[in-house]
Amino acid sequence: MVLDDLGSSLRGTLDTLQGKSRLSEDDVEAIVKEIQRSLLSADVDVSLVMELSDAIESRALEEEPPGGTTARDHVLKIVYEELVDLVGDSTELPLESQTILLAGLQGSGKTTSAAKMAWWFSKKGLRPAVIQTDTFRPGAYDQAKQMCERAEVEFYGDPDAEDPVQIARDGLEETADADVHIVDTAGRHALEDDLIAEIEAIETAVDPDRSLLVLDAAIGQGAKEQASQFEQSIGIEGVVITKLDGTAKGGGALTAVNETDSSIAFLGTGETVQDIERFEPSGFISRLLGMGDLKQLSERVERAMAETGDDDEDWDPEDLLEGSFTLKDMQKQMETMNKMGPLDQVMDMIPGMGGGMMDQLPDDAMDVTQNRMRDFEVAMDSMTDEELENPRVIGQSRVERIVRGSGIEEETVRELLEQHKMMDQTISQFQGMGDGDMQRMMKKLEQ
Ligand code: GDP
Repeated sequence: MVLDDLGSSLRGTLDTLQGKSRLSEDDVEAIVKEIQRSLLSADVDVSLVMELSDAIESRALEEEPPGGTTARDHVLKIVYEELVDLVGDSTELPLESQTILLAGLQGSGKTTSAAKMAWWFSKKGLRPAVIQTDTFRPGAYDQAKQMCERAEVEFYGDPDAEDPVQIARDGLEETADADVHIVDTAGRHALEDDLIAEIEAIETAVDPDRSLLVLDAAIGQGAKEQASQFEQSIGIEGVVITKLDGTAKGGGALTAVNETDSSIAFLGTGETVQDIERFEPSGFISRLLGMGDLKQLSERVERAMAETGDDDEDWDPEDLLEGSFTLKDMQKQMETMNKMGPLDQVMDMIPGMGGGMMDQLPDDAMDVTQNRMRDFEVAMDSMTDEELENPRVIGQSRVERIVRGSGIEEETVRELLEQHKMMDQTISQFQGMGDGDMQRMMKKLEQ
């Protein structure tokens, strides 16, 4: 994830301030140095780094921490605000009819992002269509078509046509019923004159409402030149940063945003059509600083709930806080978790779990967890309603029947029952909390 290193190194430095109520000049200098080091090693442009660190330094020295605030929280707030300011607001994307043009070098993730964005708009209730005008890269047509099928969105392309401008025009006509048109364009390995001429011609033909530049998070200092070239030729309203699931540093993309005086529209976090997030500056920086991104998490939960909710309308997560926690509740929870996406991404959004904590787990730990969840689900499918509602009735002979019915090993079935018991106990603790405790906990999470 972008600037991950900043989050963890900064937390380390901030931890040394624990217990202090005032910051000395040395403290501020140490923090600012750490921020500079992390940003520079993440490929953020030097002048941007200086601007940011100057602002943090003067605010940390001049502003009085509000009463009751520790020096650590005060400085964290300043760093947070300045970073939010640096990345800026997300690109405005009204949920209405529009044409979006995607530009970028070959391999930056344009085609993938086109399908992902179409999926995103379709989930918002709009009717998107992707128009593939890339006649340069063999395979671009098939790739786009397949991804759009997976995203269940309309697609237009013509593998036999040679003129991208004509494809764009035909595409807009053929998909006239759609409300959001996403026009994917060809890239080249480098910025070449013919690429620029082609995209200018397409831009004139489709007259987009906004043009977005797609950048691989791994892009380094080259981002500046690329961004300014595209900015000059077609005008860039927003940036899509892809491959944030990798080890990329991402600083170059921030530089590009600054260079084009634009903003970030979307983040790409994987290879499937659902791996896209609308950029939310505050959530993004909270996550970066290891504060967890509650807003993103709750959006994912809501989306997953909406999808799982269809077949069991009686199930309400709030019921968890009342009455007993059954295996059925646990099964629902697992379905929801599965729909929210890869467990490690979900964990990254939970306060206290993100910011490199997952890196400390062995690589296969998450796979094991996901395989285990699948086994649990299969075992539960072999249980009767009575057993799901009241797992206490499951004795040895019932365990043996479930093992025979599901083909899941006895050890795993026992682990499932054990896990349920643990979750049940945890939830009972929540139930015992008074409203005041609950409010304090929520407040803490929101900070
Ligand atoms: P284009 O040439 O700009 O259209 O790029 P593609 O959409 O074909 O993407 C190039 C490669 O990057 C493909 O293998 C994609 O699967 C991969 N890719 C795109 N976006 C992401 C992302 O967010 N995460 C990961 N891991 N891979 C991505």
